[in-house]
Amino acid sequence: MDSNQIRKDFPILKRTMSDHPLIYMDNSATTLKPRPVIDAVMNYYTYLGANAHRGDYEMSAQVDQAFEGARKTAQKFINAKYTEEIVFTSGSTQGLNEVALMLAHDKLKDGDVILTDEAEHASSILPWMMASKRLEIRYIPLDDQGKITMENVRKVMDETVKVICVAHVSNVLGFEAPVKEMAALAHSYGAYMIVDGAQSAPHLPIDVQDMDMDFFVLSAHKMCGPTGIGILYGKKDLLESLNPVYYGGESNARFYKNGVVTLKHTPWKFESGTQPIEGAIGMAAAMDYLTAIGKENIHAYEWELKQYFLSKVEKMDTIKLYNATSQSGICTFNVLDHGKLIPAQDVASFLNTKGIAVRSGQHCAKLLPDVIGAFGTCRASFYIYNTKEEIDTLVEALQEATLENCVNIFF
Ligand code: PMP
Repeated sequence: MDSNQIRKDFPILKRTMSDHPLIYMDNSATTLKPRPVIDAVMNYYTYLGANAHRGDYEMSAQVDQAFEGARKTAQKFINAKYTEEIVFTSGSTQGLNEVALMLAHDKLKDGDVILTDEAEHASSILPWMMASKRLEIRYIPLDDQGKITMENVRKVMDETVKVICVAHVSNVLGFEAPVKEMAALAHSYGAYMIVDGAQSAPHLPIDVQDMDMDFFVLSAHKMCGPTGIGILYGKKDLLESLNPVYYGGESNARFYKNGVVTLKHTPWKFESGTQPIEGAIGMAAAMDYLTAIGKENIHAYEWELKQYFLSKVEKMDTIKLYNATSQSGICTFNVLDHGKLIPAQDVASFLNTKGIAVRSGQHCAKLLPDVIGAFGTCRASFYIYNTKEEIDTLVEALQEATLENCVNIFF
């Protein structure tokens, strides 16, 4: 994989930040967009323009073709069996909320257990906490590195568990959960397996059939696509058996004054109202872009970058790393000055003065600080356009990060 060639596809990399060349290392939050994605979105606004599934004229038919073509691209991207299993959403958060609400309403009963863990993103846990107070949430104990192991899943699994819902790759520590084995275990108990793919779909090959997922979500913006679009994958028979959360235009075939409503089949029954059409088209362009590079190559390259970063910071006693062993491009750390921890936000603000964008804080995983023993952390998350030279600049900046240099940068 040639990151220097790839960088040419990303016009934003020409901009500066704090008067330095932009070094963007906040890819777990969102990714930058390559030219083919920008062009696909522009093309919709410039030449297509109409709504989807609404008009009887040529331009509208062209929109339908592009919109449903995007669904087909998404189907291939995660190897779903049917296009009907691909529901457009605004992103992982909406997908996870919809699944929780639909299952709580149609399939679950008082006291049913949802299995999750303390490394989860708010978008994966909160929908269950809020969907119904009748459900019990049980946490898979994490091992001493913060990983989910099958041994620990088995310890908390029993017949009261009706749902396992975890991130495929955790957004703070970057560990990959054994989701295929977890799905087999869930199914042997008659439970559903739901996987949050927000941090895996951009980086790993995804095969929902091989992993035997019941539901899987992703967000396009984390994989070079537009914001405001993602997909909810569900097995076709399961989706057909669920009632949508939203109702409105285009999801129904007929309705009557007496309240009798006939819904369309999946996926259209879940897509009430005008959809983010340019988003779907842009997401498909992003999927094509990543497929052309190859997920195996992407994963191997991120791993190489992480190893490079580790080889540099392992020699520095000022850096405390929290996830040296996770096989992703996520590096989560704190900086110490004479043994005293520099607040993560101050470090991130200092890095900003060098043109480097990283994330600081709790990264929406607000149960994890107690597990790893750190209130907040800095997270540098690498992607296809990052380079070893950029990591050198990051490491040089971290060498200069002292309490004096980091504090009160803006004041
Ligand atoms: N799950 C995980 C693991 C995430 O990292 C994120 C985004 N930070 C989400 C869910 C939510 O994604 P979105 O904001 O795109 O809905």
